[in-house]
Amino acid sequence: MLDRSQDPANDGYQLIRRAPLASRTTFDVPAVAAWLAELTRPQALPELLARPEFRDLPRLVLGGGSNVLFTRDFDGLVVALANRGIDVVESAEEVDRVRVSAGENWDGFVRWSLGAGYVGLENLVLIPGSVGAAPFQNIGAYGVEVETFIESVDAWDHDAARFVTLQREECAFAYRDSLFKQQRGRFVITSVLFRLPRSRPLCLDYAGVREELAAMGVTSPTATDAASAVERLRLRKLPNPADIGNAGSFFKNPVVPATQARSLQASHPQLPVFHLEDGSCKLSAAWLIQQCGFKGYREGDAGVSDKHALVLVNHGNATGAELMSLAERIRNAVRESFGVGLEPEPVVL
Ligand SMILES: Cc1cc2nc3c(=O)[nH]c(=O)nc-3n(C[C@H](O)[C@H](O)[C@H](O)COP(=O)(O)OP(=O)(O)OC[C@H]3O[C@@H](n4cnc5c(N)ncnc54)[C@H](O)[C@@H]3O)c2cc1C
Repeated sequence: MLDRSQDPANDGYQLIRRAPLASRTTFDVPAVAAWLAELTRPQALPELLARPEFRDLPRLVLGGGSNVLFTRDFDGLVVALANRGIDVVESAEEVDRVRVSAGENWDGFVRWSLGAGYVGLENLVLIPGSVGAAPFQNIGAYGVEVETFIESVDAWDHDAARFVTLQREECAFAYRDSLFKQQRGRFVITSVLFRLPRSRPLCLDYAGVREELAAMGVTSPTATDAASAVERLRLRKLPNPADIGNAGSFFKNPVVPATQARSLQASHPQLPVFHLEDGSCKLSAAWLIQQCGFKGYREGDAGVSDKHALVLVNHGNATGAELMSLAERIRNAVRESFGVGLEPEPVVL
């Protein structure tokens, strides 16, 4: 039975001792946290973290658990963000400023923004997880990254032992990266301030969005149409964590020098290469993995999706360690065949 602390002094959080984590992550692998605090009021964080039983324990912030892989039990305190709220703090003719609590569901917020008539987040529809985690890896999809719409991030800073507001320029946003990821464990993001435009050109020239709109019979797409097209593409291409455990893309697309990309393309003309502004090139990790024969591959209950070679899946009873050993086998095969290193995208614990 869960040991839930009913202490009324815990204003703003609820403590659970020996908390099972499987159902709190989309990989659905077994792991237990020594302590879990469900935080509904971020202002309670200093008091929570200062409690003598937690002061020297490792800490981990958890949102929707859609980008983490536990390879063992977590002998520390997991802080699960559960604060809610979407507030328009300033309304102007072209752009509104909207503050969103970290515990809000990301996809729910995207749909709220479309319903309220904003344009910009439509390509980021259906990404699982929380608003608080969106800046952590600067989520992106179909040619759009969340940093474009972030004005600032509110967080608890463990090092400074105070609440801080980081402006977008201070967040070191990059491809699936940020200050929060680089200094993992330092910040608890409590809310994000977005700048949401009322009008903006749609981003349709990416990974089949235009073709999908054509198939839908849409000739003058709105933001909501673009979101529907992305949704249809995602549902077709990606395995749904409700059906089979996964954390989306397991590897980042590798970025290599242009010379290396050119020589790889000379021997593999089909290799998809995206040229980046700084002159380097991003390669398709899915293509590299597929060429090594891993699409649909399975070792026990740890496998690679047969829908998408970049997605590792839990067929039922895989452990985090088994998934990591499969990931290692894939990395070695890609390194041997192409001389390219793959880096995991989820946080592995
Ligand atoms: C089917 C599927 C599809 C996906 N598609 C995409 C995609 O298209 N693009 C993309 O970018 N990602 C994608 N992802 C990955 C994932 O959805 C995102 O990374 C998402 O932002 C993770 O949110 P979360 O709340 O689940 O974070 P969690 O998994 O709970 O946490 C991820 C990391 O963020 C940290 N973190 C979480 N919340 C906070 C906070 N409030 N403060 C500080 N740190 C925090 C955690 O400590 C952890 O290190 C996909 C995942 C799945 C399962």
